[in-house]
Amino acid sequence: MSILTTSRQLVRPVSAGESAWQQELRSAVRDASKLCHLLELPAELAAAAQTGSAEFPIFVPPSYLARIQKGNPQDPLLRQVLPAAAEAEDVAGFTLDPVDDSAAEIHAGVLQKYQGRALLITTGVCAVHCRYCFRRHYPYEQAPHSPAAWQGALESIAADPSIHEVILSGGDPLMLVDSRLQNLISQITNIAHVNRLRIHTRLPIMIPSRVTPELVAMLQETRLKTVMVLHANHAQELDTAVADSLQTLQRARVMLLNQAVLLRGVNDSLQAQRDLSERLVATGVLPYYLHQLDRVAGAAHFEVPQAEGKRIIQQLRETLPGYMVPRYVQEIPGELHKTLLD
Ligand SMILES: *Cc1c(COP(=O)(O)O)cnc(C)c1O
Ligand code: SF4
Repeated sequence: MSILTTSRQLVRPVSAGESAWQQELRSAVRDASKLCHLLELPAELAAAAQTGSAEFPIFVPPSYLARIQKGNPQDPLLRQVLPAAAEAEDVAGFTLDPVDDSAAEIHAGVLQKYQGRALLITTGVCAVHCRYCFRRHYPYEQAPHSPAAWQGALESIAADPSIHEVILSGGDPLMLVDSRLQNLISQITNIAHVNRLRIHTRLPIMIPSRVTPELVAMLQETRLKTVMVLHANHAQELDTAVADSLQTLQRARVMLLNQAVLLRGVNDSLQAQRDLSERLVATGVLPYYLHQLDRVAGAAHFEVPQAEGKRIIQQLRETLPGYMVPRYVQEIPGELHKTLLD
């Protein structure tokens, strides 16, 4: 997998003038034995992780590592980043492209599945490698990730007046350095029929220092209504540093939503979902989607049966205000919207 090669190109190897978030990326843990050593975990776990991580290496930035409880193999944050031996198992029904992204590609790096919205793949890299990721096998090397390569993608959006919202996705679009992001946002702003900018990102959760004053300024200045869809799966991910960064974004009038994935051993209980919703709303984020796991090869051990998911959502609805209950959805290829499961 070329993820690490690409990350070297994007997060440029300069040390002078490098921001705190780039330094965090540079010091990310990329090795199972180091991860287990730092977290005081048994060496057997590291050995199992080697089996699982062959094609999608470990990547954990220090600020996220600090939120994982030491000596606890069941920690819900650890489970998201430490490969299990089960990743290497071949399970029937779990495939390489479960959401059929290839079929939705209207131009290299632009996916359009739903009316009025186009999704732009801006980079293949992320600030973390989530073990359950449905894009773990996506051919990112072929996606455009430079201003020159985006040109064609932007032209295809400019040529279609039915597109009112551009979704920056990836990978994680906030892996782009601020100058590149500014360039991209300016070009989208110049397309008259686009009036909303959506950013799908896990970076403010993983590395809260990514919310730089430059980023906040560019989001505040654009005429586009900006919506940021974050990705946190567990309340423990939302510590005070994260909450502070999110508050900065809110002051810039960025609308904050969260999408989570229902994951076995991470958030598959009423308590975990309730804590997540409570913590999100306390930090000013609305729970938007709870995704049923996409059946990607290597992630079968994370799957929670739909009946169980529905039960959790029903119990949530009975205990929390309506706006704190996420929509439980699944992406079914060929449908006109994400499918509601409850
Ligand atoms: C999920 C998704 C969207 C956004 O869907 P919403 O229901 O509007 O959040 C848009 N485009 C693609 C390709 C998607 O996968
Ligand atoms: S941040 Fe999102 S795209 Fe990146 S590895 Fe995690 S789930 Fe996948």
